[in-house]
Amino acid sequence: MTTRADSMQTTGPATVQTELPTADALRERARAALRAVGAHAELDAPGRPGLPSGSPITGDVLFTVPETSATQAEAAIAAASEAFTTWRVTPAPVRGALVARLGELLTEHNADVADLVTIEAGKITSEALGEVQEMIDICQFAVGLSRQLYGRTIASERPGHRLMETWHPLGVVGVITAFNFPVAVWAWNTAVALVCGDTVVWKPSELTPLTALACQALLERAAADVGAPREVGRLLQGGREIGEALVDDPRIALVSATGSVRMGQQVGPRVAQRFGKVLLELGGNNAAVVTPSADLDLAVRGIVFAAAGTAGQRCTSLRRVIAHRSVADTLVDRITTAYRSLPVGDPSAESTLVGPLIHARSYRDMVGALEQARSDGGEIIGGERVSPGPEYDESAYYVTPAVVRMPAQTAIVHAETFAPILYVLTYDSLDEAIAMNNAVPQGLSSAIFTTDMREAERFMAADGSDCGIANVNIGTSGAEIGGAFGGEKQTGGGRESGSDSWKAYMRRATNTVNYSSDLPLAQGVQFG
Ligand code: NAD
Repeated sequence: MTTRADSMQTTGPATVQTELPTADALRERARAALRAVGAHAELDAPGRPGLPSGSPITGDVLFTVPETSATQAEAAIAAASEAFTTWRVTPAPVRGALVARLGELLTEHNADVADLVTIEAGKITSEALGEVQEMIDICQFAVGLSRQLYGRTIASERPGHRLMETWHPLGVVGVITAFNFPVAVWAWNTAVALVCGDTVVWKPSELTPLTALACQALLERAAADVGAPREVGRLLQGGREIGEALVDDPRIALVSATGSVRMGQQVGPRVAQRFGKVLLELGGNNAAVVTPSADLDLAVRGIVFAAAGTAGQRCTSLRRVIAHRSVADTLVDRITTAYRSLPVGDPSAESTLVGPLIHARSYRDMVGALEQARSDGGEIIGGERVSPGPEYDESAYYVTPAVVRMPAQTAIVHAETFAPILYVLTYDSLDEAIAMNNAVPQGLSSAIFTTDMREAERFMAADGSDCGIANVNIGTSGAEIGGAFGGEKQTGGGRESGSDSWKAYMRRATNTVNYSSDLPLAQGVQFG
């Protein structure tokens, strides 16, 4: 790999990497990964008409990717609708064979897909590989599910009657995904939707078109290998406008959209207007309560990974620590000490733990949030930009993660800033801590660090955390696929991935069967 040896300026509390790959080296890596997975995309030079495909590692535009036109989007939706008519009657375990093959191909090409995730989303290699592993895991889950799409039999109130529920494929699922999980969220939706008998049209983030091309190529290879229709999965490349083609099209039975609250506020009402179904996975503002009995070694490790990992760009990133007054000073000291040893820089370098922010807007949002926090009385440690060299000063955005001690939860603490800012607040009673945890408009993930079983149980009880995820003694990020993933309030209420999330991808029919020769009416109604 060609590297650039400009040294970064160390201005914040972190160890800073000193080398970045060149844009040409990134282009070569991306081309090699696409070739390996069998993606035959026509990648044009930067600046041509189409979708610019860049990398936050250097901030360069690497290629121009063909953008889907409105006519092509219409054709893709029509093809997926047509494929649905045969796919829905294909036995579910046969549908599972397609997903099993996809899982095998992802296992074979995990390093190729992960490298594209690193190049486009800026994730460190270990996290990028973890994201691909999540795809493989959900494929395995979905294959098992393909033999377990169970309905219930319900006791009928009428003699000689049987009541049951059957689950049927829903239709075409439109999947809209965010830049920060460019492949896993597609797989969560696609693997489950395919075994449920649905077909999928995917609109990935406009910031990650290459990872999308790779996934689409692997799905098409899997379909060819098992003899499934190629059209069960279609790909649309572009921004908001092309996403709107899915939102407004009545042939899209379910729109599963992952992204900001702002996006959900636009998508939700439009799909509801046409009585389509939505599954919304939106922003979070996740907190960890640290109690006096907490194992602080464990808490610090959990907090640092959740807050600084992925450069604070996970929906489940830890944004608030709510520490008991008796442990707050020690905790802040230990977090800032740990932050000082976090290597920031090229996400593909083995020693790096914190990669770049995705783009300039992200950096501006971080600076704006820190300025606001300071004027609200916050004391800031870290949160500085580190430069990889003068030629990157306008293009690549590397920052040291910030810890901000806040006197109170002001409006800026209630907002999701998609960057590594950790607000630290103090509490005196557990009731107060739970109220602070729940005081934000979002409701995705939460955690408590405690060795007191009463506190742990209370945090997970009905009057505890109001989030979709409430953890004990682990951080807020890094969910396993076996559980249902999602959150409440402005996070959108959707659930996807494991458990019984599959039900969102199917329609339910209630069947009453009369096997008697009488016709008793329900509720004892008499009619002639
Ligand atoms: P974003 O909202 O800018 O974009 C997400 C996707 O929505 C993109 O594909 C975009 O093109 C599309 N989009 C935007 N407006 C649209 C519209 N009106 N109609 C149709 N499509 C539209 O989000 P982002 O910056 O890519 O990702 C970061 C955000 O996503 C954060 O808020 C993060 O918390 C959230 N997120 C949530 C989850 C979750 O599971 N809850 C997971 C990952 C990211």
